[in-house]
Amino acid sequence: MFETIVALATPPAKSALAIIRMSGDDCFNVVSKVFTKDLTRVSKKGIHYGFIIDNDKKIDQIVLLTYVAPHSFTGENSVEIITHGSMLIVNQIMALLLKNGARMATNGEFSSRAFLNGKIDLVQAEAINDMINATTIEAKDLSMVSLTGETSKVFKPIKDQIGEILSHIEVNIDYPEYEDIEVTSKEEILEKCAGIIGNIDVLIKDGEKNRIYQEGVKIAIVGKPNVGKSSLLNALIKEDKAIVTSIAGTTRDVVEGDFNLAGVPVHLYDTAGIRDSEDVIEQIGIDKAKKAVKNADLVLFVLDETGIDNDLYDLIKNQKHIIVNNKADLITKKNDGSLYISAKNNDVNALLNKIKEELNIGDVVIKPTFNNTRQLGILKQMVFYLNNAIEDTKQDQPIDLISVSIMAAYNCALDLLGQTNKNDLTDEIFSRFCVGK
Ligand code: GDP
Repeated sequence: MFETIVALATPPAKSALAIIRMSGDDCFNVVSKVFTKDLTRVSKKGIHYGFIIDNDKKIDQIVLLTYVAPHSFTGENSVEIITHGSMLIVNQIMALLLKNGARMATNGEFSSRAFLNGKIDLVQAEAINDMINATTIEAKDLSMVSLTGETSKVFKPIKDQIGEILSHIEVNIDYPEYEDIEVTSKEEILEKCAGIIGNIDVLIKDGEKNRIYQEGVKIAIVGKPNVGKSSLLNALIKEDKAIVTSIAGTTRDVVEGDFNLAGVPVHLYDTAGIRDSEDVIEQIGIDKAKKAVKNADLVLFVLDETGIDNDLYDLIKNQKHIIVNNKADLITKKNDGSLYISAKNNDVNALLNKIKEELNIGDVVIKPTFNNTRQLGILKQMVFYLNNAIEDTKQDQPIDLISVSIMAAYNCALDLLGQTNKNDLTDEIFSRFCVGK
């Protein structure tokens, strides 16, 4: 039996309305203790109007929705209480529910229960979190496809095909004496495994392409003091966030900013002018800047008319980078093929195009894709095991050895959808969710 959990599903701030959510076998009984209407015998989905009461004292006038198991998000009896949006009221109602038998939900516990109760698979559960965290329409649209189960549906035939090979092999191993049972031929294993790998490769390719919409990219801006790094950050995020002055060493900390590049969430890091410095505070900024550079997917190496600092360039030259000539308005002699911008004049379009080219950002195709690190890692592992099976088959290894690799691939398929070790996985994955979801 699942305990009755409760959480505020809307932000903890003043608003017109707030929603308090409950789930658990006992939740109609718990809520009936504090509601003007007896809901203990509720047998269908419904909307109820009344008051939350503490003994006889009216706490708030509310609307309450009941969902009867299994027809709810979690698959359990559930209640949504729509209250007036004052944190004072919310806290009073929550305290009453806790006193009467509910307990506070942990992060993602509602989604985790939906998963454990078989209402959604793990890919759908992850999509809920991705959708809540999406900062661009493209990222949200991609999550929506997975949320509705489309992505899992695309994967199911792959899982079933592996299961089919496995069952043929197992029959051959277990009942070698039955001659009428179809014998799995070496050719058949090779052909089927290769076919499945081909299908998984397509999923990996699409997923890698769409992953950046979900996970975003990190771009660091590097250059000598005063070349215009802060101005560039401001121009890209279209805000005056970083301080711009002509005094070298102004940017002492890493200033961060976000912008949307054709649907890809970009996280920018304006690094402190990395240089040798005696100043302790500046040195801390410089160390942080070096770390941001190391973690970046792309570095913008900014120069101005004063030319290149070779030591600084050595620091980033082995990373993916773009050399950006800033202060184009001051430069009279321009080299063909070099990239010129003027951060101060917001003339940065050429740079935006170059970033898209470097990071392979094109038009997003909204379709079922496995686009997070966990999902892609599992798909790659499946390819690895299926390739092992192919190798072993080619080398005429015994069939039970070949089946070990195919079984490993099958287990990966179950892991992808969360059909194995449910309890181990949930804690790790759902802890990333917000409370109330
Ligand atoms: P940072 O130290 O690299 O962050 O450089 P800042 O962004 O603080 O800029 C240093 C100085 O260069 C400021 O006076 C800016 O106004 C100026 N600057 C930045 N970009 C441009 C540009 O495109 N053209 C011109 N003429 N000046 C610029």
